Amino acid sequence: MRLVSLEGGGTGMVEGEMLVDLSPALLAAGFEPSMRSLISLAGVKSFAALGVLATGAPRSPLADARLAAPVPLPGAVVAAPVNYADHMAEMSEVLDIRSLGVFLKARSSVTGPGSTVRLPYTDRRFDQEGELAAVIGRETSGADEDEALDAVFGYTCLLDVTMRGGEDRSTRKSFPTFTPTGPWIVTADELGDPGALRLTCSVNGVVRQDASTAELVWSVARVISYASSVMTLFPGDVVATGTPAGVGPIVDGDRVEVTIERIGTLGVEVSSAGAVACPTLGARRGPVPPPSGPGPSSPGSTPRS
Ligand code: MN
Repeated sequence: MRLVSLEGGGTGMVEGEMLVDLSPALLAAGFEPSMRSLISLAGVKSFAALGVLATGAPRSPLADARLAAPVPLPGAVVAAPVNYADHMAEMSEVLDIRSLGVFLKARSSVTGPGSTVRLPYTDRRFDQEGELAAVIGRETSGADEDEALDAVFGYTCLLDVTMRGGEDRSTRKSFPTFTPTGPWIVTADELGDPGALRLTCSVNGVVRQDASTAELVWSVARVISYASSVMTLFPGDVVATGTPAGVGPIVDGDRVEVTIERIGTLGVEVSSAGAVACPTLGARRGPVPPPSGPGPSSPGSTPRS
C-alpha cells in the first residue's frame, strides 16, 4: 500500500492515479484521520486491515491532492551520519557510522512533497543528501538486528538538507524545511527487502547520486537495531539511513528529486528568499565536501563557499 497524508489533515491510499480518502472510514471507526491512526491500526491488526478501510471510500484524482509529509510531525527524526563508503571518501572523512553512531534532526524540519526548501543564510553552502527512510510502526527498544525490520511500518524518500561546516550536525540539518519526506509511505509488506533498492538524486534534472542501498555500511536493519539501543523508537518516528556519494550545493531556484526503486519520487524546490548572514563561524571547519559532486554540475549550482 501507498499511504499519504493530506495538507490540512486527513489520510489516504494511492491506487494508480487515484487517491482513496481513508478519512471518513477512520472517523466512522472512532479514529482521528491521520497516518498515526493507520500506523496504530497496522500494529494492532495488520496491513490488511488498512485495505479494508478503502472499501467504498471516496476516490479522486491524485493529481488534485495536496500531499503533506507522510508523517507530518514525527516524534523523532533519527539519522545516520556517514553510512556509505563512497560518501565517506568524497567528504575526506575518516570515520563512518561505526564510529559516529546516529544523530537527531529537529522534528520541525520535516516537510512534504512539492514543498520548498528555504535556505536560511546567504553565505553558507547547503547540500542535497538523498536517503531512504524507514517509518517506525511500534515502540521499539533494544531490537536485535534480525528483528529490527519487524518494527518498520513502511519506507519513504527523504532529503537530508545539510549546511556544510563545523557546527553540530543537529544545527546544520535542523532548519525548517530541511527534511522533505514522501511522497508517500510504501508499507513494509509491499516493499519487502529494503537492502537492494536503487536510489538516485537529481538537481535540475542532472543526476548527482546513483547508488544501491546494498552499499550501506550498516544495513537498514542494523541502523534501526542500533538506534533502538540508544533511544526508544516510537510509532511514526523516521529513521534516515544515510546518503551515498554525489552530494553537492543547492541554490535558489533549484529543483531536487529523490527517486527510490519501489517507492517513487520526492520532488522539492529551493529558495533563498529571506536568507541572512550566518551568525556562527563554522564555514571553514568540519568535513570538507566535494567541490560540486561527481556528476556534471548544473547551471546555477556552483559552490558558494
Ligand atoms: Mn544525511
